[in-house]
Amino acid sequence: MAGVPVAPIDLIARALAPDAIGRTVTVRGWVVRSRSSGGILFLRMRDRSGAVQVTAKKDALGEAAFRAAEAVQIEGAIRVHGTVSEDPRAPEKREIKAIAIEVVDAGQPFPIFKDQTEEFLLDNRHLTIRSTEHVATFRVKAAVLRALRAFLERENVLEMTPPILTGNAAEGGSEAFTFDYFGRPGYLSQTAQLYLEAMLAPHERVFAVTPSFRAEKSRTPRHLTEYTHLEVELAWCDLDGLLAFTERMLVSVLHDVATTMAPELTLVGRDPAELLAITPPFPRVEYGDAVERLAGEGFPVKWGDDLGSTEERALTLTAKQPTFLLHFPTELKAFYMLRTPGDSRTVQAADVLAPEGFGEIVGASCREGDIGHLTERLQAIGANVNEYAWYFDLRRHGNVPHAGFGLGVERLVRWITRREHIRDTTPFPRTPSRHTP
Ligand code: ATP
Ligand code: MG
Repeated sequence: MAGVPVAPIDLIARALAPDAIGRTVTVRGWVVRSRSSGGILFLRMRDRSGAVQVTAKKDALGEAAFRAAEAVQIEGAIRVHGTVSEDPRAPEKREIKAIAIEVVDAGQPFPIFKDQTEEFLLDNRHLTIRSTEHVATFRVKAAVLRALRAFLERENVLEMTPPILTGNAAEGGSEAFTFDYFGRPGYLSQTAQLYLEAMLAPHERVFAVTPSFRAEKSRTPRHLTEYTHLEVELAWCDLDGLLAFTERMLVSVLHDVATTMAPELTLVGRDPAELLAITPPFPRVEYGDAVERLAGEGFPVKWGDDLGSTEERALTLTAKQPTFLLHFPTELKAFYMLRTPGDSRTVQAADVLAPEGFGEIVGASCREGDIGHLTERLQAIGANVNEYAWYFDLRRHGNVPHAGFGLGVERLVRWITRREHIRDTTPFPRTPSRHTP
C-alpha cells in the first residue's frame, strides 16, 4: 500500500525506546483494542516485543484507508508506518501517529471477550492463549527451560533423547497410557529414567526434557496427563550430593528467571523479589516427622500413608522456602529407589515441596543397585519382571552409586507464576476430560 515502506520493519519495543520520540517507524502486529471517534482512530497493537497505542487521523490516512483501518477487528493484523510521539495518557506514555496503515488481515469478529465460562475458554484455547497473562506465562516457561538448560550446561550434564514409545511401563503400569504397538503392548513414557540410567556409564551426567504421560484419573490442580519432564541422572552421587545439586539448580533457575522476566512475573502477580529471596540450604524434613506434624494438626494420616495435595499444601502453606521431604516408606515409592542403609522400611528419596502451598515439584532418589531388591519390589507391584531384563544388565556391568530426579516443568512454572491450576502453565493442557484443541 502506498506510504508503507516495505522494509525495514521495527519492533514495537523500538518505538518504546527512550530515544524514539520523533522517529519514524514501521511496525506490524495484531490489534488489541480499537475505538474510533470524530475522524480519529485509536488502536492498541502488539507484537512479540510489546504493545503500543496508535492514533490515525482521517485527514492523514485518506478516507478509504481510514475506513479500512477502522474495520479491522480485534486480533486483525496490520502494518503501521508513523511517527513516535509522547502521550502522557497512554500506558507506555507513547503513541505512534500513523502516516499510513496497511491491513494485512482485517479478521472476523474475535469470539473471546470478558466473562466467558472456563469451558468456553478451554474450547477456544487456540485463541485464548493470546491473552496477556498467557503470553507472560509462556514467556516465563520458555525462560525456565532456557535457565534449566543453561545451568545443566554449566554443570557438564549432557542432554539425551530417550524414547517416548516403550515396551516398559517404567513405574509399574497403573498410570500408563497403553497402545497397540504392532500387536504388542506399547506404553507412552511416564519417565525417561531407566534409559537415562543406561546412558550413565558412558556419560556420567545426563538429562532429558521429554513429555511424560500419566493416565491420572484424579483431577487435581497439579496433574496433567501430559507434562514436560526434566530428568537428571548423576553417576557417583549420594543423597547429600543429590540434594545439593537439586537445590543449586532450583536457586539458579529462580534467580535467572526473576532477573530476566521481571515484567512478565509482575504481570502475572509474582513479585520477582520473592524468587530472589530463595536461597540454599532448603529446610529438610523427615517423612516421619511430617506425618506426626500433620496428625497433630488433625489430618487422618499415619506412618505409611501417601501424602497428597491437601497434606502437602498444609505442610507448605506458610513456607517461603522450598522444603525437602526425606525418607519415604519403601512401598510408597518407585521400585528403583535405594533402601536407606540400616532401615529397609524407607528409601533414600527426597521430594521438593514448593512453598505457599504449591507442593511437590521434584521427586529425587538414589537408585537401587541390588537386582534381588529390584526384583522383589517389581513383584510387589505386580510388574512383569521379564520386561526389566535389560535394566538389570546395567547392575551387572559397572554399576556405580548413582542418583537422579524428575522435575515437572509445569509444576515449577505454576509455582513461579502463581497459577491456580496447572493447565494454565501449558498452552494446550491434557487432562482426563480434554485432549482437544
Ligand atoms: P504426584 O504424587 O504429585 O502424583 P509423583 O510422585 O507421581 O507426583 P514422580 O513420579 O516423582 O511424581 O514424577 C516426578 C515429577 O514429575 C513430580 O515431582 C512432578 O513435579 C511431576 N509430575 C508427576 N506427575 C505429574 C502430572 N500428572 N502432571 C504434572 N506434573 C507431574
Ligand atoms: Mg503421581
